[in-house]
Amino acid sequence: METIFAVGLKKDVKGIQSFYIPKPEIKKPTEVLIKIKHTGLDGTDFNMIKYDSKDIAENRNELVLGHELLGVVEEIGKNVKTVKKGDFVTMTVRRGCNICPPCLHEQSDMCMTGLFTERGIHKIDGFLTSYVVDEEKYILKLPKGLEKYGIFVEPLSIAEKGIEQIRLIQSRMPWACKHPNHSFDSKKWGDCKTAFVIGAGPLGILATCLLRLAGVNTYVLERKDEEHIKIKTIKRLGAEYIDIRKITIPEAFKLAGDVNIIFEASGASEFAINMIPHMSRSSIYVMTGIPKGELKATFDAHAILRQIVRYNQVIVGTVNSNKNHFEMAINDIPKINRKFGNILDNIITHRFKLNQYEQYFNLQGPNQLKIVVDMD
Ligand SMILES: [Zn+2]
Ligand SMILES: [Zn+2]
Repeated sequence: METIFAVGLKKDVKGIQSFYIPKPEIKKPTEVLIKIKHTGLDGTDFNMIKYDSKDIAENRNELVLGHELLGVVEEIGKNVKTVKKGDFVTMTVRRGCNICPPCLHEQSDMCMTGLFTERGIHKIDGFLTSYVVDEEKYILKLPKGLEKYGIFVEPLSIAEKGIEQIRLIQSRMPWACKHPNHSFDSKKWGDCKTAFVIGAGPLGILATCLLRLAGVNTYVLERKDEEHIKIKTIKRLGAEYIDIRKITIPEAFKLAGDVNIIFEASGASEFAINMIPHMSRSSIYVMTGIPKGELKATFDAHAILRQIVRYNQVIVGTVNSNKNHFEMAINDIPKINRKFGNILDNIITHRFKLNQYEQYFNLQGPNQLKIVVDMD
């Protein structure tokens, strides 16, 4: 049996490991064999290692990490129609439980049982290796010119879903400003809106890209020096930077005025919760960070409950994304690059070969944003 080199987690061993897995093969006429070119890394990968939190399948001893894929189709099953050999592709991450109605209707991101699996995260292998096989229905072809941005489709799809949630929920209030064509369900929804984005990691930056693309007046809250690549990128997007080491939360709200949207992308739970008592009336707060471990904090529970009710506030969590959000991301990548001078090229700060895993998983660089692993 042919085996391939892979990087990930092993049962009963801490830290990042390398091992060999059987080379995947097409077994059904609906499957596609993909040669992996690039895999992007994000906070989920780093946190699984840092907190030794792993979800390895019962019949396995290891889990290949990585869930942001750019690949090339190498072979297709005889019933596959939407991709062909040589196409550049990416794929969704979650595989539904096959039990709940959302999963049975291509909306596994809203799974109701929790019995889903996820490539590179929960039970099924990810993309820090050289080949993967999966069903055609999870695979998306990248249009010409988009090949080099393939690894951004997955993280951008997470931001797309977050913004979609905001727009769906806030369409409850068509008159958020005095212009009827600025309602949240209209094309120009971003006009006359102000947003806070908490955290300028890759997800916070991609959310800022989408908010700025829609014309939202955006402030990004971070704790980095002005020269840091994160802050320079925020500014290139036409967003304002708020250094939360220098400004208190009430001061930040005073500076921005009515904040219609808060997009949390830091996982800094105490800071995130401390934002709630300052939320504007009828506003929405979408949370995407997933902190690990435990942190006890004290807050005025009466005040928070009273305020959420009296001010019609929405606090909503969002995780994962489905194929629709991947399609939205593929559609928006060229728009982002056109409007902001190929900014996505600058977001990739580090590239490594697959076997340099001890380096890329231990990187603590001051100018680190997106890390990409090249398989070739
Ligand atoms: Zn489900
Ligand atoms: Zn307006």
